[in-house]
Amino acid sequence: NRSPATVSLDDLPLRDDLRGKTPYGAPQLDVPVQLNVNENAHPVPREVTEAIAARLEAELPGLNRYPDREFTELRQKLAAYLSSAAPGVPELRPEQIWAANGSNEVLAHLLQAFGGPGRIALGFGPSYSMHPLIASGTGARFVESPREPGYAITADLAAAAIDRHDPDVVFLCTPNNPTGTLTGLDVIEEVYDRARGIVIVDEAYAEFSRDPSQTALRLLPGRPRLVVSRTMSKAFAFAGARLGYLAADPAVCDALRLVRLPYHLSALTQAAACAALDHAPALLAKVEELKAQRERMATALRELGLTVHSSDSNFLLFGGLDDPQAVWQQLLDRGVLIRNTGIDGHLRVNAGTEPETTAFLNAITEVMTR
Ligand code: PMP
Repeated sequence: NRSPATVSLDDLPLRDDLRGKTPYGAPQLDVPVQLNVNENAHPVPREVTEAIAARLEAELPGLNRYPDREFTELRQKLAAYLSSAAPGVPELRPEQIWAANGSNEVLAHLLQAFGGPGRIALGFGPSYSMHPLIASGTGARFVESPREPGYAITADLAAAAIDRHDPDVVFLCTPNNPTGTLTGLDVIEEVYDRARGIVIVDEAYAEFSRDPSQTALRLLPGRPRLVVSRTMSKAFAFAGARLGYLAADPAVCDALRLVRLPYHLSALTQAAACAALDHAPALLAKVEELKAQRERMATALRELGLTVHSSDSNFLLFGGLDDPQAVWQQLLDRGVLIRNTGIDGHLRVNAGTEPETTAFLNAITEVMTR
């Protein structure tokens, strides 16, 4: 019987270590209010779409050629953006920048180069669900060490986990997804000193922090095993374009050249991202507004008697729910999609536009006070 419908993964000669794994699966549903995957709720402004369209148009005749493998202009622009991203950040050189199709691919490059079979990647959970998948996808073993109650990582907790597991790669996500928790630079320094492996600080949400100066970019000088990963998917409102990047010692970028596929960043992606970076202030203009909506939601959810974890990101984790999946479904029934990340009694919601946030607050008030 050759009918495709009867074939399951078990019938395929799949890698043993992939058997039983579940893929990344945030539901993509066509509902009016989508507050579930930490996007920026605001569309790309007109002045920026016009600039991008013009740059893309200029690239089109040249699409017969492969793109610049070294994405030279993009690296220059990313270096310039990061160098002025926050007080205390050193001047970063283009050689210190790497980019790929989303920070997921940046992380995949890192794990291909520094993870792999026989190696150990350590993370502090709950954290971003792709860290274990990306690590194990390269054959590395992912170990999750629990955070403190309240989700902080202290220097002592981190040191104990590093001593116990002796990781080749350490993931620190700050502000952390899905909890919103910031990890102090003192803890990151301690982790770096304690570990012998690569320390990846995933700062996908850094621009939403109440204290953007708490960025590990400041720690880069003299720390060649430290990597700071960022993305244009969140604050830059550019998730659909797929552009993530990192800053590290130039030698780290040399290591990533060994594993990336040639020409991994298309000419169109590079052009769109360059045009977007030329208009960074316009794209980033909604960050303060989203932070205001986040705080508005925090206040309203607390008034409903829920536990709200203070967040330095564009989302909130809230708890005190007897049956989070039922609440998730009741919100969906009212046209509002948020996220159940599997933390007991909790759900996660993004700050939306003002009307979206209002729609969510109205819906949850109705669900909680029924
Ligand atoms: N890191 C974290 C912590 C994230 O939450 C996400 C997206 N949800 C990513 C990385 C990946 O984002 P992207 O690939 O769009 O850059």
